[in-house]
Amino acid sequence: MLKNESRSSPLEIDPQELRKLGHQLVDDIAGFLESLPHRPVNPAEFPEEVQKLLGSAPVPANGLDIGSLLHRTSKLLFDHSLFNGHPAFFGYITSSAAPIGALADMLAAAVNPNLGSFQLSPIATEIEAQTVRWIAEMIGYPADCGGILVSGGNMANFVCFLAGRKANMDWNIREEGFAGANGRTVRIYASKETHTWIKKAADVFGFGTNAIRWIDTDDQLRMDVNALERQIKSDMNAGEKPLMVVGTAGSVSTGAVDPLRAISALCRKYDVWFHADGAYGGFAALLPDAPEELKHLHLADSIAVDPHKWLYAPLEAGCALVKNKEALRDAFSFNAPYYRFEGTGGEPPLNYFEYGPQNSRGFRALKVWLAIQQAGLQGYKEMIADDCTLARELFAEVRKYSDLQPMTYGLSIATFRYIPEDVGQGSESSEKYLNELNEAILKRVQESGEAYLSNAIINGKFVLRACVVNFRTTRKEIRSLPALVVKIGKKLHTERKAV
Ligand SMILES: *Cc1c(COP(=O)(O)O)cnc(C)c1O
Repeated sequence: MLKNESRSSPLEIDPQELRKLGHQLVDDIAGFLESLPHRPVNPAEFPEEVQKLLGSAPVPANGLDIGSLLHRTSKLLFDHSLFNGHPAFFGYITSSAAPIGALADMLAAAVNPNLGSFQLSPIATEIEAQTVRWIAEMIGYPADCGGILVSGGNMANFVCFLAGRKANMDWNIREEGFAGANGRTVRIYASKETHTWIKKAADVFGFGTNAIRWIDTDDQLRMDVNALERQIKSDMNAGEKPLMVVGTAGSVSTGAVDPLRAISALCRKYDVWFHADGAYGGFAALLPDAPEELKHLHLADSIAVDPHKWLYAPLEAGCALVKNKEALRDAFSFNAPYYRFEGTGGEPPLNYFEYGPQNSRGFRALKVWLAIQQAGLQGYKEMIADDCTLARELFAEVRKYSDLQPMTYGLSIATFRYIPEDVGQGSESSEKYLNELNEAILKRVQESGEAYLSNAIINGKFVLRACVVNFRTTRKEIRSLPALVVKIGKKLHTERKAV
């Protein structure tokens, strides 16, 4: 409300009050994190139950008391969330979030720099630039590459995809669109294990999903480079334009790493852009005993990594890296008459709106920048190595159970399935039964609140999948997991036999 020369606003909080509210909230968060291991991983509530908690009241006509609002909201979140920060959370590829990230987000929001341009966010822009350099350094990429923080792996892959699209088309796609193709089909090559982002990218950026050549994989689910070369050659002979090969550095299902060195060599040979999707496995390249192929990650023209996975940043934080900085800028830069961000002397300022699809941008770099310094390179080496060790130990643990079948181990992912002792495997009917049974086991494990797994489909087999990207997981959670699966498996199998 406007008064003479002052104004009172319902959103302002006076400093004394803010201190009190903030201290209380941080207290509540610390208590929550302390209680995490003793809470169920998953509240397993139905949508109707969750909706009921919120009720159907319209927009409140008048403002509410902020203290009780924060208290009620914390309780809602603490009591009705699935906790990916729980030591027994092994689903998908979702990491536990480093608490420093929560503090960083609070600090970032309080200052609220807009990282679209240097002028609007001087120190924040340089912190993001340093974060990008550090991320590049961690995975062995040149520190002078182009890079930008985005919301996650999908967006990081999209940004790299667009950089490759601009750089490797032999006409100006940004102006002419696909009209410039003169009827040629543009091809993208990816293995069948590639994450779904590739379909979204081919669709959203106008290629159509039929532009994707799905390359077969070998028995370890890695791209078959001979098949890749045959396909590229045959497409070129047919007058088509091979644009890009996507190599996966740590697949979602099993942690498989494509033969990055051989893919790179083929891309050089045929002048094709080499993009590596390291959203999951990229940061494992910093391990001294990283899988051999990961050591060639740096050969890629562009790399997507996901700080909200193995850097343990809270959601959201992805990072796109493009070896040739200009190629990244060329893919996104337009000059607008209403922006005058050229700077006034000194070196030209870094304006991130020219390096990605976003215009106004938040300070997601801060949580990553702080976490990197809190843990240091050594800290990350230990955490990532420990995650891999735990997955390997789980795989070994599974072998001790006669009714569990170990399937795959890669990076920090172990897969296995339950096979009741009186059910054979291999025949069509038994495989069908095993798929149904393991799917039911997965659901029951998730609902149990004791641990959280997800699944993979490997050669038509439905398997249980544990992925450790979690600095809170210990041997205790790993050891009790197979027993939980067997207990649930036995029960479900007995129930089914009884019908
Ligand atoms: C997680 C992941 C993605 C998608 O990343 P988001 O952060 O979920 O958007 C893409 N590719 C791979 C290999 C991934 O592991």
